[in-house]
Amino acid sequence: MSRVLTEHSIDHVVLERGEVANSWRRERWDSLCLLTPNWLSRLPGYAYSGPDPDGFMKLPQVVKFITGFAAHASAPVRTDTTVTCVRSLEDGYQVVTDRGEIRCRCLVLATGASNIARVPELHRAVPQTVQCLTTFSYRNPDQLPPGGVLIVGAAATGVQLADEIHRSGRPVTLCVGEHVRLARSYRGRDILWWMENSGVWNQRYDQIEDLERARRLPSPQLVGTRGHGTLDLNTLSAAGIEVVGKLAAVRDGVALFSGGLANQFALADLKMERLLDTFDAWARDTHVDTEVGPVERFAPTRVPPSTRLSLDLRSGEISTIVWATGYRPDYRWLDVPVLTHKGELRHDGGVVTDAPGMYALGLPVLRRRKSTFINGAEADARDLAQHMAGYLAGRGGQRDAQCRG
Ligand SMILES: Cc1cc2nc3c(=O)[nH]c(=O)nc-3n(C[C@H](O)[C@H](O)[C@H](O)COP(=O)(O)OP(=O)(O)OC[C@H]3O[C@@H](n4cnc5c(N)ncnc54)[C@H](O)[C@@H]3O)c2cc1C
Repeated sequence: MSRVLTEHSIDHVVLERGEVANSWRRERWDSLCLLTPNWLSRLPGYAYSGPDPDGFMKLPQVVKFITGFAAHASAPVRTDTTVTCVRSLEDGYQVVTDRGEIRCRCLVLATGASNIARVPELHRAVPQTVQCLTTFSYRNPDQLPPGGVLIVGAAATGVQLADEIHRSGRPVTLCVGEHVRLARSYRGRDILWWMENSGVWNQRYDQIEDLERARRLPSPQLVGTRGHGTLDLNTLSAAGIEVVGKLAAVRDGVALFSGGLANQFALADLKMERLLDTFDAWARDTHVDTEVGPVERFAPTRVPPSTRLSLDLRSGEISTIVWATGYRPDYRWLDVPVLTHKGELRHDGGVVTDAPGMYALGLPVLRRRKSTFINGAEADARDLAQHMAGYLAGRGGQRDAQCRG
C-alpha cells in the first residue's frame, strides 16, 4: 500500500508494532515454508529473482524478501510503534500509539487477518494434564512432551503440523472437519500456476456467488516442499496418522468426534474435481492443452475402515493438543463503530463501511480470491489507493464506481 500511495503522491506513514515482516519473524513455527512458489512472491515493482523460481521460501528468506521490498520501496516505516487506539475525528482519524499521536484523513488497516488464534470454546473442557498449544505457541516438535498429539483442524497449518510432528516419531491424531483438498501439481504444473493463469485466483469479490462462505473457507491442504509432493489426507493416513472427525465436544475429559467423515471427504473430493474441471475447460478454450500434460484425476480420499468417535483425554494417550483451527484479526484497538456483533470488519472490498477514508487490506477474499496472499496485495492496494486518491480529492461520492472500475 505504501508503495502505491507513493505512486499517487499521497503523503503517508506506516506504523509497525515490531519490525518489518514482524509476523514472519515472531508468529510462525520454525520450519514454515511458503506454500506459494517463489515466482508468485511478487510485490509492486519487486519480485523473487533467485535461481529457484519453482521453489518455496523458508522463514528467513521470507523475512529477507519483505525487508528487501520495504527498502526498495523506501517505505516510511516507523517500527516499534504500536497503535493502541483509533478514534473518528470530524475530518479523519486520531491514531494513538505508544509513541505519541497522529492525525490523518485516511487510514489503512493492514494489521493482517491472522493476529489471534481462533480456538473453539470447548477448549475449556480439556483436562489440565493435556498441554494445549496454538499455531502461535507451537514452534517445533522438540518442545512437545513425549506422547500422542491431537491436532484439531486440517487446513494448511493442521496438515503441515500433523506431518512434521508425526515425522518426529509421535503418534498423531488429526481431527478433520470441512476442508479444501488440493493436489500440489496438476497436468505437470504447480496447482498455483493453474489458479493464477486460469483466472480463478484473480476472481473478484463482487463476482463470487456466496462471498460470505468464500471468506470463511479454510486454507487449502498444501505444503511447499522440494519434492513438490501433495499433502492430503490420503498421504497422511498412509504415513500412519489417524484421521478422525471434527471435534464436536469434550465431555468429562473425553473428546467426542463427529461421525460424518465420509461426507466431508466426498465433499472435498467433489470440490477439487470441479476446480480441476474449470482448469481443463480453461486449458481447452485457450489452447494451453498442448503445453501441459494429459488430464488427471486423483483417487478419492480413503475413508478409514473404522473411525474412532471418542478419545479419553485423561488416559495419557494424548499429551498435547495443537489447535490449528484458524486465525482472526485483532481490532481491540479500533474505537470506531465498524465491527459486526461478531467482531468482523464491515467493508465492501476493503472500503470500510460507515467510516469515510478508512480502508482494509490483507483480509480473506477482500477484493480477490488471492487477497490474503503476498501476491494478492498489489492489485487490492492499487484499487484502494485509487479510491483513496478520489476521496482525498473530494470525489468521495464516486467511491464505488472508482473502486470497482
Ligand atoms: C501460517 C500462515 C502461512 C501463510 N503462508 C503464506 C504463503 O505460503 N504464501 C502467501 O502468499 N501468504 C501466506 N500467508 C499470508 C501472509 O502471512 C499474510 O497474511 C499476507 O501476506 C498479508 O500480509 P499483511 O501485511 O496484510 O499481514 P501481516 O503479515 O500479518 O502483517 C500485519 C502487520 O501489522 C502489525 N500490527 C498488527 N497490529 C498492530 C498494531 N496495533 N500496531 C502496529 N502494528 C500492528 C503486525 O506486527 C504485522 O507486522 C500465510 C499466513 C499464515 C498465518
